[in-house]
Amino acid sequence: AAAANVIDVASIEVIYNHVILVLKGVSLTVPEGSIVALLGANGAGKSTTLKSISNLLLAERGEVTKGQIHCRGERVDGLSPNDLVKRGVIQVMEGRHCFGHLTVEENLLTGAFIHGGKRRQIADDLEKVYHYFPRLKVRRASQAGYTSGGEQQMTAIGRALMSRPNTILLDEPSMGLAPQLVEEIFEIVKNLNEQEKVSILLAEQNTNVALRYAHYGYILENGRVVLDGDAASLRENEDVKEFYLGIG
Ligand code: ATP
Repeated sequence: AAAANVIDVASIEVIYNHVILVLKGVSLTVPEGSIVALLGANGAGKSTTLKSISNLLLAERGEVTKGQIHCRGERVDGLSPNDLVKRGVIQVMEGRHCFGHLTVEENLLTGAFIHGGKRRQIADDLEKVYHYFPRLKVRRASQAGYTSGGEQQMTAIGRALMSRPNTILLDEPSMGLAPQLVEEIFEIVKNLNEQEKVSILLAEQNTNVALRYAHYGYILENGRVVLDGDAASLRENEDVKEFYLGIG
């Protein structure tokens, strides 16, 4: 596993509850500084792949039973989610998962505990989040549960940023959002990638938007990678056009 790759997944199999085989040999790499999209229909195994890396699988009785996962050349499968966060790899879960009764700002601050930063550093990080997400600054004192779906997605990404990640695993950021908001969120993700040098692995059912922002893509079907390539070549692929972009 090359150290220049922030993430290297090699032929992993994942089983839930000791019996349900969901990933049947998935391999992928996230080169440092890139945006990589994991595409595929509902149930293809995108979330499971992200959770295998962050090891949030643990909480769902899932297990990597074959293959290996490396992070910057270091073996990480079997480590705890906290160990991954300490290595700078954090997952933003599907469905946003804000603490609804806390304010937006309190939600963001919960992301800072992992590195136990100094008050001054945390304040700087918060300003950085507000720089990328100006809407969150406006809504900082609102209860997160009463903010819009788009604002909750931004809060979830902002909270992840507070842990000072080098890699974000982003699960279905477009889910349930109006097209204009989806675009707004992807623009911010692109800015984070370019300006903060955060590498991104994102799972998306919205192939169109994902392939406009990602550098590289993998298509999952039924727990296997059936196609991968740089985003431009995938956009031109006849099967992708027909089955995933609806323009064949
Ligand atoms: P979605 O967009 O619905 O999240 P996905 O591509 O991310 O789709 P996964 O959520 O990874 O797919 O699910 C892949 C398969 O694993 C599905 O058949 C699903 O039913 C199954 N699965 C997911 N989580 C569990 C679990 N905790 N226990 C058992 N089976 C699970």
